[in-house]
Amino acid sequence: MDPNLFDRINTLQNYQNQKTNQATQAELAALRQQLAEEANKPKCPHCGGPSEQGFNRCKNCGMEVIWWGHFVGKPGTMTHLIMAMEQYEIAKKEEQRQQKQLDQLKKQQWKEWFFKTLPISFSVVCVVATVLMFLLFILVVCANVTGVVPDSS
Ligand SMILES: [Zn+2]
Repeated sequence: MDPNLFDRINTLQNYQNQKTNQATQAELAALRQQLAEEANKPKCPHCGGPSEQGFNRCKNCGMEVIWWGHFVGKPGTMTHLIMAMEQYEIAKKEEQRQQKQLDQLKKQQWKEWFFKTLPISFSVVCVVATVLMFLLFILVVCANVTGVVPDSS
């Protein structure tokens, strides 16, 4: 029997395993995403299961539910839902305000840092430029002395 046959079979088997593994990983990722989406859905006030927005009955327990925005509750609790939604929006606005303040603070800090380090940066650039000019000067002088640069005249 051809001894290379085992190698070829092994290679094919490894390839097959790798492909199966990739497919499994992709399937797992899709399932995880689906799970996360389910977890983020509003919870049924009767059974606590994920609720589908816009449906009047829970798909898990079949009990009647009411909606206000993305808030779900038992029938007869509309006032509570409205209040919850208002509080949610106030909290959201506050969060946005704080984020904006934080962004402004970061911008301010960056500006301060920039103007504080500007003289140092400028000095460094000047020193580097001077050194480069000096090296260039030396190079030109050496080239002229050794005659590496051809004379144009
Ligand atoms: Zn339910």
